[in-house]
This record gives sequence, C-alpha cells and structure tokens, in this order.
Amino acid sequence: MDLLPIFLDIRHQPCLVVGGGAVAARKVASLGRAHAQIHLVAPALTPELQAQADAGDLIHRSRDFKDEDIQGMRLIIAATSDRETNQRVARLAKAIGIPVNVVDQPEECSFLLPSVIDRSPVVVAVSTTKASPVLARLLRTRLESMIPAGYGRLADLCARYRDAVKARFADERDRRRFWDRVLVGGVADRVFSGHLEEADAVMARELAEARPSGGMGEVYLVGAGPGDPDLVTFRALRLMQQADVVVHDRLVAKPILDLTRRDAQRIYVGKERDNHVMRQEDINRLLADLAKAGHRVLRLKGGDPFIFGRGGEEIDTLAAEGVPFQVVPGITAASGCATYTGIPLTHRDYAQSVTFVTGHLKDGTMDLNWDQLAQPHQTVVFYMGLVGLAIILEQLLSHGVSPDMPIALIQQGTTPQQRVFSGTLATIQEVIAEEKPQPPTLIIVGEVVKLREKLNWFQKPSS
Ligand code: SAH
Repeated sequence: MDLLPIFLDIRHQPCLVVGGGAVAARKVASLGRAHAQIHLVAPALTPELQAQADAGDLIHRSRDFKDEDIQGMRLIIAATSDRETNQRVARLAKAIGIPVNVVDQPEECSFLLPSVIDRSPVVVAVSTTKASPVLARLLRTRLESMIPAGYGRLADLCARYRDAVKARFADERDRRRFWDRVLVGGVADRVFSGHLEEADAVMARELAEARPSGGMGEVYLVGAGPGDPDLVTFRALRLMQQADVVVHDRLVAKPILDLTRRDAQRIYVGKERDNHVMRQEDINRLLADLAKAGHRVLRLKGGDPFIFGRGGEEIDTLAAEGVPFQVVPGITAASGCATYTGIPLTHRDYAQSVTFVTGHLKDGTMDLNWDQLAQPHQTVVFYMGLVGLAIILEQLLSHGVSPDMPIALIQQGTTPQQRVFSGTLATIQEVIAEEKPQPPTLIIVGEVVKLREKLNWFQKPSS
C-alpha cells in the first residue's frame, strides 16, 4: 500500500480551491460535504459557483492565484486549466507542508481524493492509487449497489446505543461480541427494511437480556484449504472475521491470513519440518489458555483440520477442560491439488478407491501397509512424502507396482506458485533431481495421473 487512507476532519477549517470551472466546482462540492470553510481563487466562476459565492457558502477572491493565497490553509486543491499554475500551487503548498491535490496530475499530489460511497455516517472511500480513476468509479458503482442506504441508519442507531452498550459490558470483548451479533442479526434486518421503531425495540431488548460471558472465550478450529483464498468456506470466513486471536502455522498462506480481522493478534506456532516453533502439547495448552482468558481464538490450519492436521488432539484438550469450540472443515490438499492439476482422484476405468496416507518419516522409516498400497485400481495420495520419496518408490516397486505407474508431485497446489512434476515410478527421480521441488508438496500415484494431459485446466495467473 503506497498511500495511507485517512478521514480528515476539516469542518470549519479554511481550505483553498484554485480555479473556477466545472472541475473546481466538483471539488468545492466534496469539500462542502465535509463542511469545510471554502476559499476560492479564480477570475471567473461557473454560474453554479457564482451562486454559491453569492449565497455566502464560500469566500471568493475574483482574481488570479497569488502565492500568499496558501497562507493559513489546511488543505489545497489546484483545479485550474493551466498546468503551470497548478504546479506552482503544488510546489508552494508542499514547501510549507500543506496537503495538496492537483487535478489530473497525480504525480503532483500529496493526497488523492477517493471515490466515495456516502452513507453518512458510514463513508466508504475507494482509491486505485493513481492507476485508474475510472476503475475506482466502477468499483464505487459496484459497492453502491452492495451497501444499502440503510447502513447509514444502522450506524446512527449504533451511535445512539454506544454509551448504553458500554455501560452494560465492562469487558471490551463482550461489547464487541454483542455488536457482532446485533449488526448481522434481527436489528440490522429491521433497519434495512425501514422498520426503525421495531429495530429500536429489539435493540433495547437484546441489550437488557445480554449477559456478560463470565470471561470464557471459544476456539474455532478452522480448515483454510490448500492455499487459494477462494477455497475458504463461508463459515470459515465468518469466524475468521470474528476471532480476536489467530493461531496459525506455515501452511497457511498470507492471502488467507489477510482475510482475518486486521486488529486480531496473530501467533505463529510453526511448523516447518524439524523446526517446530512450538510443540504440539504447547499449542494445545495455548489454545485452552487463550480461550479461558476470554478470547475468541481462531486456530487456522492448512487444508482440513481433521486430515493429517492433528486437529483431533487440539480439541481433545479443549473438550477435557470444558472450553467451547467449533470445527470447520476445509478442502484438503489431495482434493485441491488433484482438481487444480486435472487429476480426478477416482475414475470408473482407473481407480475405484483413493487412499490418503502420510509419508512422514519416523526414525528414517515409513510404517505403512505397502501390500495394500500396491493394489491395482486405486489412487494413493501421500501427504508429507517429499523427504521420503525414495522410500515410497522403492516400496511400491518391491511390492509389485509397475515401473510405468504414473506419479505426480504437486508443489504449492491451487496457488499462483503451483508447480507440477510428473512421470512414472521409474522416471520421476530424474525429474526431481532436475527440478528440486520444495514443500509443501503432495504426491499422487495412480493411473488417473495420465488424465491430466487432457483435463488440465488451471492457468496460473501470470504475475
Ligand atoms: N491438513 C492438511 C494437511 C497437513 S499435512 C490438509 O488437509 O491438506 C502437510 C502436507 O500437506 C504437506 O507436506 C503436503 O504434502 C500437503 N499439502 C498441504 N497443502 C498443500 C499444497 N497447497 N500443495 C501441495 N501439498 C500440500
């Protein structure tokens, strides 16, 4: 982000607009909506501006711009049709640190005026950081239709109840929870449908009936999917935006973390192979302690929390200690990687079953039922199998699988960084020696891998 979005209080503050044409008139209107004291310097005005000047809505100096006009101003907009004048205004303003905007010359600006959706007191401002004002206006139009006018009324209602809610809940987290509930529930519905008195009554009742939580929080064990943020479920997203503490590990990509609440505390608990920032027991303990301290804790896991995610262990401690929790399933890596590489995990002709196994090495070995994994007409998916790949190949071959059996390795599946390496049990090691895949990588073994040639559809965004 190159610019800091802020909302500036300029009520009754002197603000200067240089120029008297149609563009200046639009800027005057923006400043006027924010109740600025508007000073306008221009030898001639549009009839609209003239009328405003006559009505005393702005202070007009009927002449060309002079250097001293900027003195004492809080904000300046240069909107003449003369580039040089505009640049001069900008230079002078910057020299003494007054924020300045120059129309149509973003490089001269020290601040930009966003496109605005005004649902006062709710105001949404959109900027494309100089890239395209047209795109900003387009987005504004989209948002206009998404944000009902009722949001302004809803915010008014919030303002009216603010003190009462504060008085009712000593604990700030309880307060926040109450608002979360009210703003997506019956009160908001009634405001949006125009039933304001009813909304007031419901609000008053909810407030009277609300009970402080007694300090106990909750844990949300949430599967974030394999990497593409579009694969996060609605329920996961809702909880991600409610939680005030986020406990995450390496498998959760930044674009997904960015969907959590901005002001939530984030705790990183590992774990890279052999580099566990925190032991599993300590994570279990941490979740319980945070919830007992009253937090709504989001335990965010890559893929699905109940598939090689140790999710069961984490909530075991919670259950034993009476901490409330919810679990949200996620799209597991096998599912995500298979679809994003065009490999159906089952297929009428090639695979009647699919098995997910862990290829994680314990003391340098992999204790798996190889006889079963070597059976034909199935797909075998290895999680955490990259380091032990040589053992996997050796075991499958020695248990009778053909050296021609197709195999695919998918690195960072479903993300723009996705890489796919395929071959056969006989050839894959050569490919790997060359390409050096990195974790996280998933391994799929089975005839279905061949279908990829025809069914591959995922185009990585070129970045
Ligand atoms: N709970 C997770 C799995 C955790 S085990 C799930 O349901 O997906 C970690 C292993 O998952 C990694 O070693 C890798 O084999 C696999 N994995 C997870 N995300 C992946 C991704 N985006 N691409 C490839 N493999 C992935």
